[in-house]
Amino acid sequence: MSCLFCRIIAKTQPADIVYEDDDLIVFKDINPRGSTHVLLTPKEHIATVNDMEDHHALLFGKLFATAKKLAEAWSLVEPGYRLTVNVGRGGGQIIDHVHMHMVSGWQRRRA
Ligand code: AMP
Ligand code: ZN
Repeated sequence: MSCLFCRIIAKTQPADIVYEDDDLIVFKDINPRGSTHVLLTPKEHIATVNDMEDHHALLFGKLFATAKKLAEAWSLVEPGYRLTVNVGRGGGQIIDHVHMHMVSGWQRRRA
């Protein structure tokens, strides 16, 4: 329970939660790189994509399915949006709890 995102999931750490179901939580990034920047996060603590196991395939697929639904709900299908998963320090991952960035209106300079 020491992981920051696990604390957000447990509601012991405040966050601006915009969507939640049994498997995922979606909250606003504290340092947004676009007019929309949320983090789609499995509730199960999986540190990185490298820790993914076969039985996580549906869960990881649900990240994309949920992003698509949120894009429709938030009228982001046009102009479009970016989905990013950073893996490991060399891949830009800072928080060791798998999450997918969903960014729209992103600024190329900082992407
Ligand atoms: P990554 O580099 O892929 O691990 O992304 C981690 C993201 O978490 C960064 O974009 C941070 O701005 C964001 N972040 C860090 N702490 C918080 C927090 N307390 N609430 C929301 N987002 C956070
Ligand atoms: Zn965690």
